[in-house]
Amino acid sequence: MQKIVLFGECMLELRQGGEGNIMHRSFAGDVFNTAVYLKRAFFEHQVSFMSGVGHDVISQELAANCQAEGLQTSLLRRSASHNPGIYLVQTDEHGERSFLYWRENSAARQMMKLLDDDIRNTVCKADLFFFSGISLAILAPEDRATFWQFLSELQEAGVTIAFDPNYRARLWQSEDDARHQFSLAFAASAIVLPGIEDFATLYGHQTLEDVVAFCAPFNIKELIIKNGPSSVFCKTEYCHFSLPVEPVKNVVDTTSAGDSFNGVYLGARQAGYDIKLAVELAAKAAGLVIQFPGAIVPNENFSELIRAQLLAFEHQAS
Ligand code: ADP
Repeated sequence: MQKIVLFGECMLELRQGGEGNIMHRSFAGDVFNTAVYLKRAFFEHQVSFMSGVGHDVISQELAANCQAEGLQTSLLRRSASHNPGIYLVQTDEHGERSFLYWRENSAARQMMKLLDDDIRNTVCKADLFFFSGISLAILAPEDRATFWQFLSELQEAGVTIAFDPNYRARLWQSEDDARHQFSLAFAASAIVLPGIEDFATLYGHQTLEDVVAFCAPFNIKELIIKNGPSSVFCKTEYCHFSLPVEPVKNVVDTTSAGDSFNGVYLGARQAGYDIKLAVELAAKAAGLVIQFPGAIVPNENFSELIRAQLLAFEHQAS
């Protein structure tokens, strides 16, 4: 059994829908989505979600939601003064989605202040620790040193570090600030799972070659660059190759495409699948997720796809 810890923010998602101004409630957030899909695809792994929550009723529901998804909640810490963030998804008459956030004071932002020896000891025994650029962006500037110190303790303990930059301009004070924090993350991570757009937006990279050249000086063991419906580029110390993605015709909502890809990819790699199979499985999973509205799709559809694909791999191998 592999022990995997994912650190980030989970928010209450409110979605307007149907008649009578009904609000649908669910929980989502990039790293949380990744944790959910990782656990759903590879139930055998012990998957812990590390975050800050409050003492309120939404926090209780959030923790219950984690448990219902099979996630360990022993790395959730409760802030006495802060509650979970909330966002509202609105869809206009043309189907365009917009998001309204209330997350500036969220409990997840307090996580470095809530870090204790129990968390340090537990996470140092994990096999893999995953975080994203959003996990970093939401930390208060004065808490960043604590995070980097924590990360170096994990590295020293031999925990594999995985990172997705998931750049969101509005969460950063400046581009320079994001670039500086990302360079620390790239330097600390063995596995990096960016979307190509992250680099286009933040570094002005025009091509995949630009991105690969930029990443070359870092000691990244597995660089997996997601390029939407086009392809996934993979680079290790020993080889590099591009894998095609089968474009989905009926795209309903691309929320969580990259998150589900990350979860399934990391789960598959920790389960011993090679990079090619892990990408293939992750791309299939992401392709399914974008055919449903919202970040977290129905489990039956997702699990059925994963089971069928894993069986197909077994047949191919035999
Ligand atoms: P991110 O959300 O991190 O920016 P992408 O948009 O590249 O990442 O999407 C992540 C993954 O989702 C892709 O690598 C691909 O496997 C899958 N994906 C995204 N868009 C499509 C699409 N239109 N058809 C099929 N698969 C898609």
